Amino acid sequence: MLIGVPKEIKNHEYRIGLTPAAVKEFVTHGHQVMVENNGGAAIGFTNEQYEQAGATIADKPESIFEQAEMIVKVKEPQPNECKMLSRGQTLYTFLHLAPDPTQTELLIESGATCIAYETVTDRSGGLPLLAPMSEVAGRMSVQAGAHYLEKAHGGSGTLLGGVPGVAPGKVLVIGGGVVGTNAAKMAIGLGADVTILDRSLPRLRQLDDIFAGRTNNVFSTVDAIEHYSARADLIVGAVLIPGAAAPKLLTRDNIRAMKEGSVLVDVAIDQGGCFETSRATTHQDPVYNVDDVVHYCVANMPGGVARTSTMALNNATLPFGLALANKGPKQAMLDDEHLLAGLNVHEGKVTYKAVVDALGEQL
Ligand code: NAD
Repeated sequence: MLIGVPKEIKNHEYRIGLTPAAVKEFVTHGHQVMVENNGGAAIGFTNEQYEQAGATIADKPESIFEQAEMIVKVKEPQPNECKMLSRGQTLYTFLHLAPDPTQTELLIESGATCIAYETVTDRSGGLPLLAPMSEVAGRMSVQAGAHYLEKAHGGSGTLLGGVPGVAPGKVLVIGGGVVGTNAAKMAIGLGADVTILDRSLPRLRQLDDIFAGRTNNVFSTVDAIEHYSARADLIVGAVLIPGAAAPKLLTRDNIRAMKEGSVLVDVAIDQGGCFETSRATTHQDPVYNVDDVVHYCVANMPGGVARTSTMALNNATLPFGLALANKGPKQAMLDDEHLLAGLNVHEGKVTYKAVVDALGEQL
């Protein structure tokens, strides 16, 4: 199969669909790969590395979209990319169609087979192609929080690890899933005093096993949020209710009761945010203050560490991508219901129920 990897064109998107190592895997399996000129250059993946891995370099995205049987990307295709897709071609990337009728229409018109990373499933009911981005965002949340706790960056001037003789900072993680667990790992690593709130008892039991006494794992109630937020130096918002907007767990009153110069990192901002005062920010302008509390609400945190994120994403997307190339998309999806769950649009029809439910009347 001929696989095409165009350069991402969304504003400030530096990730790329395939790393040179992933290209080498496809080539080793007998496939051909075309990568757009300097497609990975911004994150240190040079044309030479792609060529050494067996790819050819294409000058323009048009030649990739014209020839490739499967297009591998990171972000949803922009309108001019959608218009270059055609029937018989497979698109393998993040799509997020439910809130995006324009893109959905364009993909329907293209006739292409469009597989969304975010809806591919695994045996335990998880979303294996989303998990790496949650791992990245969770780990980054504490790094960002520690940065903004510094006085010069608007914070209270608290060092999360403390020092001998000075108590460590207090980190509250609300939601102990993938993001929350990774945030907690980083906070523990820095030596902070960490509390995790979750409302799932089975999850609290798992957290108890994972952290073996190094975190304080508490059932999430209004009372617990009020109690722990008032003492926290850093709060990480990491809740998810699948398919729904994030619940506003931390109220304006809770935030008013926090210490001056404390920091909130709302990772759940891509689902609307779980703090009442959250609004989405960007890597260019990541923070703002409400009631003397620093708010960091970057909606695409993994984009900030695009090199690590590209490699982490490739580790997860590669096995499914190879199956699509080796067996052909139809057979690969017939053989694997979890990959089939990724199919969102096929030959002019939306094939994913949640997208139909969200957009039905607009299409
Ligand atoms: P997850 O499903 O692994 O974990 C969510 C956890 O929240 C679960 O353990 C669940 O029990 C818990 N929860 C639900 N309601 C709660 C409540 N009322 N109180 C406490 N806990 C509650 O999800 P995840 O992968 O960790 O993702 C968390 C959020 O981070 C999602 O909204 C996801 O979209 C977002 N995210 C954002 C970025 C970004 O760049 N901003 C990147 C990756 C993920």
